[in-house]
Amino acid sequence: MNTLTFTSPLPLDGVRVPRAALLDSSGFVFDRDGFALADLALDDAGNVASLRPSRAAAHSDWIGFPPLVEAHTHIDKAFLRARAANPLHDFEGARAAIERDRAQGWTHADARGRMLRALQLAWSHGVVALRTHIDSQPDRLQPCWDVFRELRREWEGRIRLQAVASLGSGKLAGRHGERLGRLCAEHAALLGPVFYVDSDLAANVERAVDLAQNYALDLDVHIDENNHGRADGLRALLERLDRRPFAGRINLSHLCSLSRCEPQEIDLLARRAADHRLSVVGLPVANLHLQDRDCGDTPYWRGVTPINALVRADVDVVLGGDNSQDMFVPWGALDPLAVLRDGMLAAHLDEPLGDAVARVSTLAAAVIGLPDVGHIAVGRSADLTLVRSHDPYAALSGDYSERLTLRAGEVIARRSLEM
Ligand SMILES: [Zn+2]
Repeated sequence: MNTLTFTSPLPLDGVRVPRAALLDSSGFVFDRDGFALADLALDDAGNVASLRPSRAAAHSDWIGFPPLVEAHTHIDKAFLRARAANPLHDFEGARAAIERDRAQGWTHADARGRMLRALQLAWSHGVVALRTHIDSQPDRLQPCWDVFRELRREWEGRIRLQAVASLGSGKLAGRHGERLGRLCAEHAALLGPVFYVDSDLAANVERAVDLAQNYALDLDVHIDENNHGRADGLRALLERLDRRPFAGRINLSHLCSLSRCEPQEIDLLARRAADHRLSVVGLPVANLHLQDRDCGDTPYWRGVTPINALVRADVDVVLGGDNSQDMFVPWGALDPLAVLRDGMLAAHLDEPLGDAVARVSTLAAAVIGLPDVGHIAVGRSADLTLVRSHDPYAALSGDYSERLTLRAGEVIARRSLEM
């Protein structure tokens, strides 16, 4: 591991830490934003040796964020924006652009270079666990699944990598579905159908859930990423689960058209989702970019997941960055703190920032099956993001003089402003 020299002692006294980061918050005094002053000490192995309410009278100018999680991205397509242009900027244009680019043939070196760069960027931003969807149509399994297997081995101990086999749900029919079932089982991956709203929706939901059941897989589905206002995908899935239970976990990614239903309907569907213990990943940047483009002008619908209603119904909702700098979404740098800022802004997540950070750290980890990841706690590796700023909202707005990424107590990335 490359580490940078940080000349002064690490600023670990009087650091402000968010409530969501603490396993045991007793004795800490939280401000209105959900942050408390803490004194941290590290041992020689880079683990947190002690963590207690600060004895300092005033806070230092450092804020400590916990280990961060990217719960939903597509590193196989990352950084293709300039090469595979989508002049229309919309979903259909993006699908056409990826078709054209794939038709040229992807080499192992090309896929590896982009996927590796995505991991390096995530790493520099303090990401400790990352779930990526990988396009898995019959003619597209390679080279990306081979690259993923290599990278997961090479990055062991740095970023925990998970893969989701992603494809239009209609393509799960027949032999390819069975092939993907085996591939996912072999890679400890998830099955990730994209449910389009068409006359085959119910049959496709049935097939996807059956396949997952047969191969003992969890599901992470792209669902209701449209403006129909009926949440047809969610309804079809709930209907299937009402008829027959499913043993695994199901995560719903996007779910934005739910926000166009009537408020009572949203609450009802959210409660049914909670009853079936479905989790949700909201992807605010992708939704802001892609939804409501058919109006042909400045959009008036934000297009985002109705996060507040889902949270009120007790659904676990976390935030992901989705595509990064590709034909679907030109934005994104695999930085969960930027995703948190954008999600809070887009979805009016008005909870204190010190709690909301769970949606890109502790809760995000739990939703992707890693409940032991994301906290700052004694005995855990000191994997922190330290930001020198007067205020947590300012820190996430880019108003900081220094941002340090720590892994096992060593500075592995530093962004600083000198003027
Ligand atoms: Zn996605």
